[in-house]
Amino acid sequence: MEKLSNPQVTIATIKKYDFAFQKKFGQNFLIDEHVLNKIIAAAGVTKDDMVLEIGPGFGTMTQYLAETAREVVAVEIDKALIPVLNETLADYDNVTIINDDILKVDIEKLVHERNDGRPVKVVANLPYYITTPIIMGLLENHVPVDNITVMVQKEVAERMQAGPGTKDYGALSLAVQYYAEPYIAANVPPNCFIPRPNVGSAVIRLNLFEKPPVEVKDEKFMFQIIRASFNQRRKTLQNSVVNGGVPVTKEQIIKALNDMGLSESIRGEALSLEQFAKLSNLLSYI
Ligand code: SAM
Repeated sequence: MEKLSNPQVTIATIKKYDFAFQKKFGQNFLIDEHVLNKIIAAAGVTKDDMVLEIGPGFGTMTQYLAETAREVVAVEIDKALIPVLNETLADYDNVTIINDDILKVDIEKLVHERNDGRPVKVVANLPYYITTPIIMGLLENHVPVDNITVMVQKEVAERMQAGPGTKDYGALSLAVQYYAEPYIAANVPPNCFIPRPNVGSAVIRLNLFEKPPVEVKDEKFMFQIIRASFNQRRKTLQNSVVNGGVPVTKEQIIKALNDMGLSESIRGEALSLEQFAKLSNLLSYI
């Protein structure tokens, strides 16, 4: 079958199945061959790889992945898309479609069954309404993943990649950068999708670390401090952390900041991941 990246083929498929796009599932399908080639190249998929695709839609990117990977497992929530996928992917014998919510799939079990527990690559044009839970779920649950290459809202990609002192820097930047090295591979305008999203998009690749770049005694505690610091980002770190319900006193924070040679009036947005790690290690001794 001719590829769905040809907009005429996608339009004919919409008509054939009388397909109604579901906003609640974040359905914006790619119709740009150039962008698809860029995603596949950024993901670095080879014939050795098993790829997990989240939300195949009509199977537009799945067609490209099937040609470059050894095996593709694609998880799609919308059951109306299953008959479409059965047709658009009929030429490929290395694709398995699972009709489920990705947030409910036991990915670790899947990787053990399908790839002998060896790390897989995750490639997706993500539904934007659940970008963060999907990515953080993959990172925090220590699923065997080599890299994650995904299309997300441009602002979200920028937040993931941002460093200290910039307006985009926040809890998401630190959470992602604790587990992975982010790299924005391309910016993608709305006219590459049908229907067009109201926002710009970007392809981001996350290369997962074998171990985090900083040593932290209590990860949960560090992220509690980070979240509290950015919940009130215009306030000083000591105020936002205490107001945010982290079980430490102002005096203890001031002492830790002094020990680190930092100003008592510093804001969370000025601290690097390394400094948050050090601060939380100092405070978790209390
Ligand atoms: N990959 C296709 C493409 O690029 O043309 C479609 C991408 S579209 C942005 C997102 C896809 O994710 C839709 O097909 C949508 O139905 C699916 N989806 C939404 N929520 C999902 C979930 N919780 N689990 C699995 N798939 C989901």
